[in-house]
Amino acid sequence: MSAGTQPARVDVEAANRNLADATPEAILAWTWREFQPNVILTCSFQHDGVVLAHMLREIAPDVRVVFINTGFHFAETLAYRDEIRRRFGIALVELDPIMPRGEFATLHGLDLYARDPDLCCHINKVEPLKRYLPGVRAWINGRRRDQADSRQSIRIIEAFQNDLYKVNPLASWTARETFYYMDRHGIPTHPLFDKGYASIGCAPCTRPVVPGESERDGRWAGSNKVECGLHTFLEAAPADGSRR
Ligand code: SF4
Repeated sequence: MSAGTQPARVDVEAANRNLADATPEAILAWTWREFQPNVILTCSFQHDGVVLAHMLREIAPDVRVVFINTGFHFAETLAYRDEIRRRFGIALVELDPIMPRGEFATLHGLDLYARDPDLCCHINKVEPLKRYLPGVRAWINGRRRDQADSRQSIRIIEAFQNDLYKVNPLASWTARETFYYMDRHGIPTHPLFDKGYASIGCAPCTRPVVPGESERDGRWAGSNKVECGLHTFLEAAPADGSRR
């Protein structure tokens, strides 16, 4: 593509039809063929992201793996990140909050998560990624439909403004399939997984789940918040196919 030329649009309906029964590996290969080199995988070192990072080693090792370091992760998550990075040989891109820790503490207090978790997520998670996205055409992530009611209608390919496409190769997988993949490939699980943590985000906003709860019930427990905002801030591409 020459400078100033707009990238080709993707027929999302056709892509979703063609990839409906494809394996995650085939979806990743299609994504790289279609959008290289402007492809990222966001990975918070939960099992789904780790599985995708493992698949990409063979399929498209040049995909950038992006970790948003909110400053509130469990020590176990950071140790697991280092272990997986070492095993897979990942050159990780690490995004910092938009505000230095000291300024954040002075302006908002380190307990902002308890008073205004949306603002806390905005500063430490959402805005850092938003600022990284210009130039990215495909954003691969590990969301699955069975994780929560709010994720049941995830499509494999989703189109957003500014020619950005979100790719969800594990949309139709279950937690069990992810676990089996890791077992087959000898990939260690997150150290908190065996302690009942089914979905692991920042330490102050995550607790283990109890029998009968769904995977994400341990996130922001006791509040109405169900998403950090990373997967809700993008605006869908115009239905008329125009570029805005
Ligand atoms: S998940 Fe909790 S601690 Fe992490 S950025 Fe959001 S509100 Fe803050």
